[in-house]
Amino acid sequence: CGIVAYVGQKEALPVIIKGLKRLEYRGYDSAGVALLNESGLSIYKKKGKVSELEAHLDTFSSLNSKIGIGHTRWATHGEPNDVNAHPHYSASEKFAMIHNGIIENYEVLKTDLQNKGYVFHSETDSEVFIKFIEDIHRNNDCSLEEAVRLALHKVVGAYAIVIMNIEEPDTLIAARKGSPLVIGVGEDEYFLASDATPIIEYTNKVIYLDDYEIAVIRQNQLQIKTIENVETHPYINQLEMEL
Ligand code: GLU
Repeated sequence: CGIVAYVGQKEALPVIIKGLKRLEYRGYDSAGVALLNESGLSIYKKKGKVSELEAHLDTFSSLNSKIGIGHTRWATHGEPNDVNAHPHYSASEKFAMIHNGIIENYEVLKTDLQNKGYVFHSETDSEVFIKFIEDIHRNNDCSLEEAVRLALHKVVGAYAIVIMNIEEPDTLIAARKGSPLVIGVGEDEYFLASDATPIIEYTNKVIYLDDYEIAVIRQNQLQIKTIENVETHPYINQLEMEL
């Protein structure tokens, strides 16, 4: 139901936790984050409130990471529990994804992937989505961005997604159709969120991602393309900040 992601120079976790709390008004049943640093890609997720996730995270010492994704889930496929909470790993555990929305054709895709040997841990449509992207990435020997683009031609439904990839540890890949996604443009940093409320305290410059657009976001670089692979030149809105 809610998405917050960050790449830049700050510690990602406090930005994400604070942002998820700002999105609490949307309602949710579980929360989770994925962080990437020298020790790898880690996912922490829990049924319940963001504050419970936060308390759980306090027991881990070295979470320092300048890139991360966070999610609050409103369950549509699979009961609210720790396993069904987002983010979800790919089979290789090299990618982690958060997803808002519903993939309507997930059952067909899941059966196909199971026949290829993929094992599913959760009951969500979202885990099918990331493993579908992974399978395309493997079979086509293409970049993750290209795999996402190809996958989006095949999935039916609504989504806002953000993916982290251990092989490109400075990069977030985001896309949307039907579910909102806003990019906050800072100084050598970018924010992503379901609406501007988590972003506004850091920057008033925002881009509203359009349906069928894919954003590739690094600390000092933003590129947006359509799923037809045509680069777009996004309009940067200046939000008025209340002082
Ligand atoms: N359909 C996904 C799930 O049930 C995402 C739900 C959401 O938008 O939070 O896990």
